Amino acid sequence: MTKYLACVFLLVCFASTAIAGMTADSRQVAEVENIYADLNDAFSIITTIDSGLFTSYRGKDRAAWEQVYREKRKEFSERMAKLPSLGFSENDAKALGAMRTRFAALSETISAPFSPGGKCQDASRKDQDYASLRTALLVCFTENANNVSFEGGKINRQSVLDLLHEIEEPERRKAVFLALAPLWQAINGNNEPDSPYRRMMAMAAADAVKHGSEVDAAARDAGVKTADVEQWLEQILEAWRQVNRDEPIEPWNFSYLGAEADRLLATAIQRESLQPVNQRFYQDLGADLQQLGTLYDLDPGLGKAPLAYTDFVTHGRMVDGNWQPTIARVSAPYARGGLFVLNELVHENGHVVNLTAIRNRPAFLDWPGDLFGEAFADVPGWSTYEPAWQRRCLGRETSEQVSLRALYAVVVLDVAWSLFELRMLHAPGTDPNVLWSEITNRYLHIVPHPELSWWVLREQLVDTPGYMVNYGLGAVLTAEMRQHIREALGPFDTGDPRWYPWLGEHLLRYGSERDSRTLMQDILGRPVSPQALLNQIHRIALPPK
Ligand SMILES: [Zn+2]
Repeated sequence: MTKYLACVFLLVCFASTAIAGMTADSRQVAEVENIYADLNDAFSIITTIDSGLFTSYRGKDRAAWEQVYREKRKEFSERMAKLPSLGFSENDAKALGAMRTRFAALSETISAPFSPGGKCQDASRKDQDYASLRTALLVCFTENANNVSFEGGKINRQSVLDLLHEIEEPERRKAVFLALAPLWQAINGNNEPDSPYRRMMAMAAADAVKHGSEVDAAARDAGVKTADVEQWLEQILEAWRQVNRDEPIEPWNFSYLGAEADRLLATAIQRESLQPVNQRFYQDLGADLQQLGTLYDLDPGLGKAPLAYTDFVTHGRMVDGNWQPTIARVSAPYARGGLFVLNELVHENGHVVNLTAIRNRPAFLDWPGDLFGEAFADVPGWSTYEPAWQRRCLGRETSEQVSLRALYAVVVLDVAWSLFELRMLHAPGTDPNVLWSEITNRYLHIVPHPELSWWVLREQLVDTPGYMVNYGLGAVLTAEMRQHIREALGPFDTGDPRWYPWLGEHLLRYGSERDSRTLMQDILGRPVSPQALLNQIHRIALPPK
């Protein structure tokens, strides 16, 4: 606690000295940056309204915020154009670069998160460009994921994934898996060479040649080459292959076989206990989510985003010498409880504390990057699969091997998707069903079913091709961070009130000012390596302690 207050105090001091010593240019940048902060807030407030969380904020409805957004957008671009092109301090120049990049992504009209305007039917039109085709596919995904027919009723994709961990009867398990067939069909047709997904990947690969792919960005953030990423992903999958018996598994049984822990703990994690367990864990880690003002919208809904995500409502900033905190929000479509869902909720709140811990100027009040963001969120997330955490938070535990198998069964699927996307981007003419069958058969012992596009389980695959690497490679960073925090601070699975302030000070306060590579190099004192993750996976094969 004391360390944390000292850090805030230091920043206040730094801010006032900086203002006193400002050059004329610096003052101009600060003025533009204030407009930028208003603009950024207007954007995140409008997307929050569109997500359905509330209809007005600080006394203004959507129309009023849109007015603010348009004005600030205009004001910002006019003021930026008037700034001289040279002569700024290094930090100001970096801030201007960050604001320019973000501004380019702030579209003139704002659409609801994960439900952009557009029609699913447009995905079959051959004249679509890359952006429009992705938009159409995202609509297809959302519509189908929110409307799955199973046993005479309707459920959503999230519930299908939960049920795949839980259903005891093999035939029902197969049936719920195959209930996703309309979703697969909507994205990849009958897997013909010009199916919507395959056309989109051809454009994604062409775009990657020009601008670099998500995989290239993640490799850069990890401080390695894209070829190294491929090798690491293969090594991780190989470790999983080695600790598992070579018995063929049908795809609808893969999650179930890994999820004994989920079933043993199912009655201890009811839907209504998800939030209390989550909040208590973060409280034990020194982060009071209620006090941080975090907003939640966790129930399923038809027009709602088909996945869990976290975003800003407003961005923290200095106002008259006082820090106005960041307000974050979590959206999820949870109809059921269980360990798989609880782990995801704790992951989302890992994003929350990442955002609320940022203490920096408006230009850098942003995610530190997708790879770091996803990896950090799993630092507390993975605790849910540790017996010590379960004992404390659920009053019941499973064995270490059963728990770790459940966690890494989820992680290696992310790694498999990462390798799948990496290879699709390199050779977009590849048959995705054949490639997915090859990867999952070789490393996960899954029976090949090239007649099914069953890899279409994740929204990211169509929204942002290549994004899955942030989870697959992210796991490498997660294992490194967890190991480092344990060494520096001690075990934290059962809580440690120094955790949040310590991470704020050492890792999170910079926001987007520091890239992942620098952050990781600074805390580890060496480049990132997959060894910590490989050691964790090998724990599954160790004899019980
Ligand atoms: Zn996430």
